[in-house]
Amino acid sequence: MNTEHLSDRLASVASFVPTGTVVADIGSDHAYLPCYLVKSNKVSRAIAGEVVKGPYESAVRNVQREGLAESITVRMANGLDAVHEEDGVDVITIAGMGGPLIVSILENGKGKLASVSRIITQPNINAKVIREWAVSNGWFIVDEAILKEDGKIYEVLVLERGHAAYDELELLVGPFLLDRKTDVFMEKWTREVQEWERVLQSLEVAEETVMIQSKKAQLMRQIELVGKVLSK
Ligand code: SAM
Repeated sequence: MNTEHLSDRLASVASFVPTGTVVADIGSDHAYLPCYLVKSNKVSRAIAGEVVKGPYESAVRNVQREGLAESITVRMANGLDAVHEEDGVDVITIAGMGGPLIVSILENGKGKLASVSRIITQPNINAKVIREWAVSNGWFIVDEAILKEDGKIYEVLVLERGHAAYDELELLVGPFLLDRKTDVFMEKWTREVQEWERVLQSLEVAEETVMIQSKKAQLMRQIELVGKVLSK
């Protein structure tokens, strides 16, 4: 991967960035995504935010090496603190982290979202919490993608401002992904159900505490819900 050729995962994120917008990529360890977006003339300006010194320095180096320092501002900052009002950011991208961390970045940075009309996230795990955050915070899902790269399955969620209602299954697996039921989607949820069944079996021999009971009930519910999708 380099600033001209992204991984399929980051290319999917990039494909949802509307042309002509100003983007802030949060957790931008190497700044590949902002560099790619500017070099391909998709955006004219970008912010790369990174909280850890080493990755921040690597982002700075890449931006300088590509001669893009005029167009890309790299800031060492926690989450959406990288976004300043004067940037006029339209689009936030947050990729390659767990769903709960992405939610905490969005929740702690709500005040920085005033100018933002689209949020593109690529959670490595637990996309459900991002869908739940969206519903509770005046965002809805406008598109989703699922892809497999190097044996790993990734989801991409695109949010815009507005309201929509999702049922329990849609929150878990994604309304657009559920509608499309691609081979990768079926593979992901077949794997997940197998894993839930394995955990459930191991809990069968554990002592029946309230916590174990509730975990078992949750697993059984998920297996029931997703099982129906897989058997169709
Ligand atoms: N976004 C890139 C990608 O998808 O390839 C990098 C993913 S890397 C696994 C996650 C990066 O997010 C790390 O460099 C980490 O330091 C950074 N990060 C984690 N929490 C962050 C936060 N609260 N604010 C900014 N960056 C953060």
